[in-house]
Amino acid sequence: MAANYIYVRGGSVLLPQGQTLEEGEVHCRGDEIIYCGPREQAPPPPRGAKCLDGSNGLTMPGLINTHTHAAMTLMRGVADDQTLHVWLNEHIFPLEANLTAQTVYWGSLLACLEMIKSGITCFADMYYFPHQTMRAARRAGLRALLGETLTDSLARDGRRRQALFRRAREFALACRDSRDIRPVLNMHAVYTCSPPLLREGKELAEELDLGLHMHLCETREEVENCRQTWGRRPVAHLRELGVLGPRLWAAHGIWLNEEEMDILAGHGVGISHCPTSNMKLASGRADIPALLTKGVGVGLGTDGSASNNRLDMFREMDLCAKIHKLAALDPAVMPAGLVIELATSRAARLIGWPELGNLRPGAPADFIVVDFDAPHMTPLNNHISHLVYSAQSSDVRHSVCQGKVLMENRWVGHLDSEEIKAKAGEQINFLRRRL
Ligand SMILES: [Zn+2]
Repeated sequence: MAANYIYVRGGSVLLPQGQTLEEGEVHCRGDEIIYCGPREQAPPPPRGAKCLDGSNGLTMPGLINTHTHAAMTLMRGVADDQTLHVWLNEHIFPLEANLTAQTVYWGSLLACLEMIKSGITCFADMYYFPHQTMRAARRAGLRALLGETLTDSLARDGRRRQALFRRAREFALACRDSRDIRPVLNMHAVYTCSPPLLREGKELAEELDLGLHMHLCETREEVENCRQTWGRRPVAHLRELGVLGPRLWAAHGIWLNEEEMDILAGHGVGISHCPTSNMKLASGRADIPALLTKGVGVGLGTDGSASNNRLDMFREMDLCAKIHKLAALDPAVMPAGLVIELATSRAARLIGWPELGNLRPGAPADFIVVDFDAPHMTPLNNHISHLVYSAQSSDVRHSVCQGKVLMENRWVGHLDSEEIKAKAGEQINFLRRRL
């Protein structure tokens, strides 16, 4: 029993609703938090329990990355400073044409290593070969939302289309009862999925009760092309096809008008906000304060490493807080406590996994300890402020996911980082040679 008992001794604890408890302790047994509260009331840990040093630190929920393409770590830096459509069509899609199970596995494992080191314990992925990303997530010990990704090019004839849906179904059925992997269905975007594909995807998601994850209103061009091709803007297009509903969360949501925000709110559709990617691709700024005011669920995401170029939720939090203040010319917009929720509890609700994202007894055992000892975190006037405006991902000292220590004192003992980096290098060289 003691072998899977972990507790953090020393430091403070971030409680639900953003309260900080000085002198707190967190205990977990297996994949369940059994205590989160004042040190003097903490249960005595059993003999052999694993103790993590929390001194000068803050124990908080693991961060949740609500939108990424993990294996795109391989494409980090291959084509920067381009518009989304040039970047995708001239650089990314040609590389992706030759993806293999091996490229996706090693790219995903590199992403998992990077995410562990930056305090992420759960990620929602949209890519190909989801079995390989699942293998990587399981080897790394992270939770993930995974599934096949639908595009017209993958379903370009009847045989391929049937095979794609068969794989999507089999993947979802294979992992639907697991605690670590949640099956979802990814529908890439309205510009890569025709109406019949979107309709069929929605029907499969309803039949198997899957979350639906897609890109939506990322660029002005996407909206204009949709209007020209289908005679309506993307939100109306998806509503017409019956795709809008609480099981859908969509990345970006930049080019939305007031009426479309109301439609999303009315259908329970949430938005994954990826500020770095939106800034780097100059796609625009999602009006997150307006979406929140209208009651749209929002969580933060990194997007893939080819458009970010890091999987670093601390940077997303910092930029999220600032980009909206700047746009509104109002420093009171997007306060730090709200931004932390977008990376934890609100992120969990967005992806349909509301048990995650809060430290409380009975919750899954996913948490991190952030070190507040560095000069840039001193003096400790305000934990919440420091997390958003001062911390960097390298301040994450320990990470626990599913009741297992993934990183202790920045050491990720169960993964061979030299091997992963070397394999990732081999895989991008392989893709480049086939261009
Ligand atoms: Zn994306």
